[in-house]
Amino acid sequence: MNPNTSTPANPGYITVNVEEKLFQNRYKVDAGRPHIRIKDADICTHACASKSCTFVCPASCYKTEGNGTVTLITDGCLECGSCRILCSEFSNVDWEYPRGGHGILFKFG
Ligand code: SF4
Repeated sequence: MNPNTSTPANPGYITVNVEEKLFQNRYKVDAGRPHIRIKDADICTHACASKSCTFVCPASCYKTEGNGTVTLITDGCLECGSCRILCSEFSNVDWEYPRGGHGILFKFG
């Protein structure tokens, strides 16, 4: 039994998984102006063995393709900054906040 499940003995629990929480967010995409950019795709493909961004990003913005390249789609970015910090070995992430009025809108804090 899920320990977070609301029961008659524990009626205060609300069961919400991460995907359900993320679905509550809204994004205003700045079309053609992504706020994060991979500086040199070849570094991700050939030099970076761990490709940590592909499994640390909570919004799954980074993906490893079949040919070993890493793709980045920033539309669902939570602006947490994890990828910016994580890529310290190669400093291959060019990161800035989205322009005013764009980016994520957190609906529940
Ligand atoms: Fe993913 Fe956070 Fe980087 Fe956005 S800032 S791409 S959510 S790791």
